[in-house]
Amino acid sequence: MKIWHVNILTLFPGMFPGLLGQSLSGKALEKGLWSFNAIDIRAFATGNHKAVDDTPFGGGAGMVMRPDVIEKAFLSLPQPGRKIYLSPRGKPLTQNLVKELAATSVLTLLCGRYEGVDQRVLDVYGFEEISIGDYVLSGGEPAAVILMDACIRLLPGVMGNEDTPTEESFSQGLLEYPHYTRPADWTDASGGVHSVPEVLKSGNHAEIAKWRREHAEILTRTRRPDLLKD
Ligand code: SAM
Repeated sequence: MKIWHVNILTLFPGMFPGLLGQSLSGKALEKGLWSFNAIDIRAFATGNHKAVDDTPFGGGAGMVMRPDVIEKAFLSLPQPGRKIYLSPRGKPLTQNLVKELAATSVLTLLCGRYEGVDQRVLDVYGFEEISIGDYVLSGGEPAAVILMDACIRLLPGVMGNEDTPTEESFSQGLLEYPHYTRPADWTDASGGVHSVPEVLKSGNHAEIAKWRREHAEILTRTRRPDLLKD
């Protein structure tokens, strides 16, 4: 089995594995179920100041990451695999795209900073752009961590179950149903008593499945009707 590997092109290699070094993804890293290589883009800069950015042609605020420096960092990779630039302009990261990326053995994630990256290097090396949501982060590193976290939990062996979860949110075009655990009757701090829906304690698997499906549909209709459109 080929290990899922991620090359990360970044100005901040110390941000990795970061929170991916803990919990489920951290254990999977220790077990060798995935690996990463954080490449410091600045190490490929030349000149006295080791500049990785410059002012934008056409004027305007901020700085742009230079194509020549990124190219050198990129060409240092023996095997880049699928090339992704994390960008708010990119296609949305959905659960279907996560599944696709988790099934791709090598990824290269380019993390932008400042105003972003010179367009030419993206075009020449065929980077696809992926966004983690309609908001602007200060850099691509947190977006890379989110993309990787979502993929790592789907890798074989990571969740202690070879089957990928089939009932969780987005897997069947629905949000997930509500969960309950012990105590079956919970008294809150104000004395209110809250009981678990009876059907979930019934042991009747068909009825439980029906209840869960209905509640998944209700939640989706109320919170994310856009998911039901197709
Ligand atoms: N000037 C850019 C724009 O308006 O589209 C935003 C640049 S942002 C300050 C710096 C970097 O953060 C980007 O190059 C990108 O790598 C990353 N980034 C910001 N928001 C992101 C998002 N929603 N998804 C993925 N990456 C993001």
